Amino acid sequence: MRASGDERTSSVGSIAPRAATDPLRLPSDQDSTGRSLGDEEVALLREVIESGVLTSTKGEKVRALEARFARDLGSAGAVACSSGTAAIHAAVAAIDPEPGDEIVTTSVTDMGALTPIIYQGAIPVFADVDPVSLNVTAQSVEAVLSDRTRAIVATHLFGHPCDLEGIGELARSRGVPLIEDCAQAYLASSGGTPVGTAGVVGCFSLQQGKHITTGEGGMVVTSSVELAGRMRRFVNKAWDYEAETTDHDFIALNYRLTELQGAVALAQIEKLAAGVATRISNAGRLSAALSRLPGISVPAPPPGDVHSYWRYAVHVDSAVIPGGPGALAAELRLHGIASAPRYIQKPAFRCGLFVNQQTFGKSRWPFTLARPEAVDYDASRFPGTFEALERILVLPWNERYSESDVDRLGEAIASAVARLAGPGAGA
Ligand SMILES: *Cc1c(COP(=O)(O)O)cnc(C)c1O
Repeated sequence: MRASGDERTSSVGSIAPRAATDPLRLPSDQDSTGRSLGDEEVALLREVIESGVLTSTKGEKVRALEARFARDLGSAGAVACSSGTAAIHAAVAAIDPEPGDEIVTTSVTDMGALTPIIYQGAIPVFADVDPVSLNVTAQSVEAVLSDRTRAIVATHLFGHPCDLEGIGELARSRGVPLIEDCAQAYLASSGGTPVGTAGVVGCFSLQQGKHITTGEGGMVVTSSVELAGRMRRFVNKAWDYEAETTDHDFIALNYRLTELQGAVALAQIEKLAAGVATRISNAGRLSAALSRLPGISVPAPPPGDVHSYWRYAVHVDSAVIPGGPGALAAELRLHGIASAPRYIQKPAFRCGLFVNQQTFGKSRWPFTLARPEAVDYDASRFPGTFEALERILVLPWNERYSESDVDRLGEAIASAVARLAGPGAGA
């Protein structure tokens, strides 16, 4: 912030002279500064507009996009849809749980990964997260499996891959399908396995703020031809556009992506690898700068794993940095940096939807079908979740950061930490 008038007036009452306070204008993924959108997208969009074919049921762009996802991930099939939420919904619908069946998921995720479970009449059962990675683990998932578990949804939070070997092995040994939520984790991998290929279905989002975007959009990839067919019909009102004869023979929605979005996505996917590479190298650069700071822990994926840095999140130790993530975020705001303490305000199960079981009218369905243990949200069951949310600070991040942006971000954090922790801290 620039002092608007008399320098002395603006510094009255401040404890110590602030460092240069020009706001750091970081590229933002909410507009063109932090998005990689340009002539390539425009050229493909123009083709679609000039063709006059805007629906994917008749066009070729969305089909080409699906083929590209399937090829890149070595999947048996891929189906585009209108959002990451729709992708999760298609995956759950294809598994076709009975009402009241349970789907194990995570307490720290986007609500779009949870509401589709309830719409399909199933009960989200929350596994605790590891306080460091903020991901579910084989252990935390196993602790909540029951004879009603019909699927596991593992979210790779911030681009940090879950332990796919452990969770995959658990899922196989129990005969429970694994769905991976890769909305934040394009090109991440765990133990050499690309995310989205360890389970039966991998779900992606193309929303404005993800690694690549069409504003809104989604994709499912699957190792099963049968599931691919069910998901394709689910996003097409249960209509099979390829069959000679077809029928609307189950409950399903129109969750199609348009050709306009398909065109943009085809151009975006060409830019994905470079964007992820930049995010990763910039993360390494920032980690080198921050790892010497007292009270700050930087992301540390297991050796060999690829974290694709949708966001860069640090842990803040409030025993060293008074006020913890909240105080650090307030300091960073003075530099024009909008970081997010906690990431989400509260664990998913503390949101009104779960607390009040506000679903369809006054019915509370499908929660009325749940085992009491499945909807027991007592804090004592989620120590990792509460610890993680107390400690986490999520920094804004995208592929358009220059090395100088990263350096200035690191300097802003270092000076904020020095002010909060005081001269005695560290060493
Ligand atoms: C963004 C996101 C979703 C939902 O995707 P939308 O495209 O916004 O519907 C689901 N899960 C996770 C982990 C996400 O980050």
